[in-house]
Amino acid sequence: MMVEKVRTEIIRIPRVMQSTGIELRRKQKSIGLVPTMGALHAGHMSLIKASKRDNDMTIASIFVNPLQFGPSEDLSKYPRDPDGDMARLRDAGADIVFMPDAEGMYAKGFTTNIKIGGELTNKLCGGFRPGHFDGVATVVAKLFNLTLPVRAYFGQKDYQQTLIIKRLVIDLNMPVEIIICPTVREHDGLAMSSRNKYLSEDERKAASVIYRALNAAKDSISSGEQDMNAVNDKMQSILKSEPMVGEVQYAGAFDADTLDALSEFKGRCVLAVALKIGQTRLIDNMLAP
Ligand code: AMP
Repeated sequence: MMVEKVRTEIIRIPRVMQSTGIELRRKQKSIGLVPTMGALHAGHMSLIKASKRDNDMTIASIFVNPLQFGPSEDLSKYPRDPDGDMARLRDAGADIVFMPDAEGMYAKGFTTNIKIGGELTNKLCGGFRPGHFDGVATVVAKLFNLTLPVRAYFGQKDYQQTLIIKRLVIDLNMPVEIIICPTVREHDGLAMSSRNKYLSEDERKAASVIYRALNAAKDSISSGEQDMNAVNDKMQSILKSEPMVGEVQYAGAFDADTLDALSEFKGRCVLAVALKIGQTRLIDNMLAP
């Protein structure tokens, strides 16, 4: 598809971003925000496309948010590709790229954090990444205040994150519509992720087992399986059949709203996986049926 050429503006200073947002709002422009941590791929670009479809102006933010990384996580080696990201965003027709630095976002004296209650955060990724979703919610709230979007776009790839952000805007009465976009996948089904860059060639091949396990589980539910323990066992055995899979943090069927583990089918569920291949932690999910 030909994208109409726009001049993509880079803004690095939070105060400048906010005054630009205020000015756009004053001119009655609808703003769509796509928050990212950079190292952009086709998954991110699908969010830009959705925002351009719905809004007058699309702002992409690129910020590797230190608040959402645990002390033993990959903050310092998280993939960064500012030039490649800018080229992609220009091609995709993003109007503004907001690229603050950590000092700008968390100036001296910063001390206010959003705390997401345990119901949603103790489960799935939250159990393995304490504080992660508080960090996500805090930065998303700041990005909303700085860019003033009417809509913000998130990927279903991070399913628990989508539930938490939807909860955040309800609980804090934020005037932002949250739009969830489908997961974009590689040719073998692996969900696109900036962290896929960490995988060696063999690990990358092995990683497609996640998609196969999710698909098999989804198929068995579609064919009428009601026993979620059987579905979970099927997922686990497919994952274990791949020797490169290390720790499986979770894999199974969960309530799509509460993320509680399910033993019987209740009409709708999310099949979700988090595991390690080598040093790399990968997550993915599918809704079923
Ligand atoms: P990240 O840069 O990984 O923080 O992701 C930024 C946004 O892009 C989040 O809303 C992600 O859920 C979304 N995203 C990441 N990977 C994909 C994908 N493969 N398909 C669709 N959206 C994605």
